[in-house]
Amino acid sequence: MIISLPMTSENRQRTFLVLEEHYDSQTSLLHYETAFQLLVAVALSAQTTDNQVNKITPSLFSRFPDPESLGKANLEEVEEIIHSTGFYRTKAKNILRAGMMIYKDFGGIVPDSMDDLITIPGIGRKSAGVILHHIYHKPAIIVDTHFGRVMYRLGLTQSKDPGVIEKDIAALFPSDQWSGLSMTANLHGRALCHGRKPKCAECFLAPLCPRQGVVT
Ligand code: SF4
Repeated sequence: MIISLPMTSENRQRTFLVLEEHYDSQTSLLHYETAFQLLVAVALSAQTTDNQVNKITPSLFSRFPDPESLGKANLEEVEEIIHSTGFYRTKAKNILRAGMMIYKDFGGIVPDSMDDLITIPGIGRKSAGVILHHIYHKPAIIVDTHFGRVMYRLGLTQSKDPGVIEKDIAALFPSDQWSGLSMTANLHGRALCHGRKPKCAECFLAPLCPRQGVVT
């Protein structure tokens, strides 16, 4: 196991820029056309893959295209459509309640603040961050399993706790880099910095990366 000192400020910025060169921070792996559709897709993506969500959202969104129609939907019908995403009972309840809440409490508009978003059933800080970034182009640190792993290996955090990671990254990077870093590091985790066997020999970040916690 390699334990290294934290990166210098200069290397942090180089890391950010190199990631930006290699990945498009506007990439969304979930398919959607409206803010509400993204919110629903993100809520459904818990504990499953984006591909799995993308398979069922076309039929869900054509049947229930907006907050009002989904909020007033028949629960069993929604359960049947989203069944393959797992935890379908909880997810169906959440997205129905989310639709009704957005329809009644937010005038049918997906809110644009972290504080409001996390009051919506099925939406935690990570999901809220995805919406803030993709829909409202606001700064957000989006800590999922890929992002957390890459930040740890790069020595940018000493924690594996999402809340601590978010605070650590917030302290190390200016807010206008948060969303970009979140998306590009996430894509890097999927492309090269895999959970079990990171492809360090092929990695363009290798000269900058202390590979904290990587067993060779
Ligand atoms: S050098 Fe290895 S551990 Fe570091 S970012 Fe690249 S793949 Fe991940």
